[in-house]
Amino acid sequence: MRHLPISLDLRRKTVVVAGGGDAALAKLRLLMKTEARLAVFATALSPEICALAAEKRLRLYRRLPSAADLVGVALVYAASGDAVEDARVADLGRTAGALSNVVDNREGSDFITPAIVDRDPVTVAISTEGSAPVLARRIKAQVEASLPADTAILARIAEEFRAQASSLPRGMPRRRFWSRFFDQAGPQALRDGGEEAARDALKALAAESRKETSPPGFVHLVGAGPGDPDLLTQKARRLLHEADVVIHDRLVSPAVLDLARREARLIAVGKVPGGSGWQQNDINARIVAEATAGFQVVRLKSGDPGVFGRLDEEMHALEEAGIGYAIVPGITAATAAAAAAKASLTQRGRNSALRLLTGQDVNGFAEQDWRALAKPGAAAAIYMGVRAAQFIQARLLMVGADPGTPMCVVENASRPDQTIIATTLANLTEDMTAASVTGPAILFLGIAPRTLAAAAGVEKAPARAASGGAQ
Ligand code: SAH
Repeated sequence: MRHLPISLDLRRKTVVVAGGGDAALAKLRLLMKTEARLAVFATALSPEICALAAEKRLRLYRRLPSAADLVGVALVYAASGDAVEDARVADLGRTAGALSNVVDNREGSDFITPAIVDRDPVTVAISTEGSAPVLARRIKAQVEASLPADTAILARIAEEFRAQASSLPRGMPRRRFWSRFFDQAGPQALRDGGEEAARDALKALAAESRKETSPPGFVHLVGAGPGDPDLLTQKARRLLHEADVVIHDRLVSPAVLDLARREARLIAVGKVPGGSGWQQNDINARIVAEATAGFQVVRLKSGDPGVFGRLDEEMHALEEAGIGYAIVPGITAATAAAAAAKASLTQRGRNSALRLLTGQDVNGFAEQDWRALAKPGAAAAIYMGVRAAQFIQARLLMVGADPGTPMCVVENASRPDQTIIATTLANLTEDMTAASVTGPAILFLGIAPRTLAAAAGVEKAPARAASGGAQ
């Protein structure tokens, strides 16, 4: 980030605009929304600027600015359109201790002005560091659409009430009070009865909240999906925004964790294949301890919490401790992997059943009903199967499975490093080794990826243009 978006207090500050044409007028329109004192220096002036001067919205100097004019000024906009003159004014501003902006010249400027969505006192600034104004305008339109004009009124009413709200109990009760106002009571009262009704609704809510005792801790066992944050449910997203504490697995992606409330405490309780890392008992104890302390806990598990997620053990611990909980399903790795490979999990005439298997259990490689799996048309999605691949292959061949049975491995489904391998039972381990599968992967038995169905092969996710940015 080269430019830091900050909000500058312009009360009792002077801002100079040097220039009298359209570019100057555009900046003035924006600056007039603030409480800054505005001074315009220009030799040629548009009629609109003259009119604004006549209305005393700004002070007009019909000359070019000198060094003395810029002393004590907060911001200088050089907007004459003459590159030499603009550079001179920007330099004068800098020497006088002001921050200077040359319109449409990022390199010659100390700051740039973002696109703004104005719902005063709520303002949203959108900056693309000057690199993509069209994108900024699109984002602005999206933000405009998601912030109804009511937002401004509600925010102003909330501002008036801030001192009184500070007497409400901190943390969850106070947050809940504000969310009730902004999400429901406020907009509704405003629609039905105008500003006064919204003020009354706020007071009534506050009175109600004072009477309430803090809610007890609660745990949501939430499916985080396979990694792509777009594959989260709306409910999971909302709960992440509200959580006091997020206790998450190793496989929950950073992009999903980024959606947690900024003040939430993130606790990583990753288990590592092979048994090191957190033990399930310690995880259970930690969840119980956080909820007992009164926190709203999101227990975030990759995929769906009920698929190879040790869900029962956590529910049992919560029930024993008398803590309330709810389960929020998520997209499990098998469905995400199938979508990535454009494969259907069931297919008329091929498989009318699909097994979800694990390659590993507490005793090591997991034994399964290999004979049933070896039958023509059998289909399975194998979780935790990377280390067990050779074992699975050997067991299936031993009971007479067709070596040509299609297999498909999807590593890092839905993530930027997604890899799809089309192979057969006979070549499974060889092809997995060749593709060096190390990330989490689903092994499909009896299901071929549509994209690579014709021939065995490996398909990597297309490289993303820019990596490292927030999603
Ligand atoms: N509850 C999870 C499964 C947890 S077990 C779910 O419903 O998806 C962990 C296993 O899930 C991994 O070993 C791997 O087999 C699979 N897995 C999780 N995320 C994955 C991903 N993005 N791509 C492929 N497989 C994944």
